[in-house]
Amino acid sequence: MNITNKMKIALYPGSFDPITKGHISIINKAVPLFDILYIGIGENNTKKHLFPLEKRINWIKKIFENNPKVKVITYKNLTVDLCREIDAKYIVRGLRTYSDFEYEKKLAYNNQTLNHNIETVFFIPDLKYINISSTIVRDIYMHGGDISFFVPELLIN
Ligand code: ADP
Repeated sequence: MNITNKMKIALYPGSFDPITKGHISIINKAVPLFDILYIGIGENNTKKHLFPLEKRINWIKKIFENNPKVKVITYKNLTVDLCREIDAKYIVRGLRTYSDFEYEKKLAYNNQTLNHNIETVFFIPDLKYINISSTIVRDIYMHGGDISFFVPELLIN
């Protein structure tokens, strides 16, 4: 039997444009539950990104360089197809608001329709990070504001 069948593998998909302390809070809560947590950066051609893919990959790699359970991966295909490729049975997502819940519920059910063997697991961030979104960070950054509360120090330097 393939050893990975016994491992609990999860995928946390997103744009991470950029990674924020909210994302990190979710990752830190999810990591103890899984053997491997892939951070999947979706390369969505229809979405316009502010930070180049290479930067987004390297930031996440550096932040979790001391945690061998966290791996970074990029993908262009469907999230459930990536799950199949990496043997992930769980999708990790974060919840902040009712509107997140409504959106995430649809995504989770659609993914369940596409592959019934994959379960979506939701985490809430530490309360102080609940109002953080990459959209807000991009907005503050583009207007020359201080993003140090929202993102890890590595991104500022
Ligand atoms: P996407 O492009 O899929 O929206 P994001 O990088 O914006 O990707 O978000 C990925 C996931 O992280 C989503 O489930 C989102 O709800 C969650 N998330 C983003 N920011 C936070 C936060 N501050 N607290 C908790 N979850 C968050």
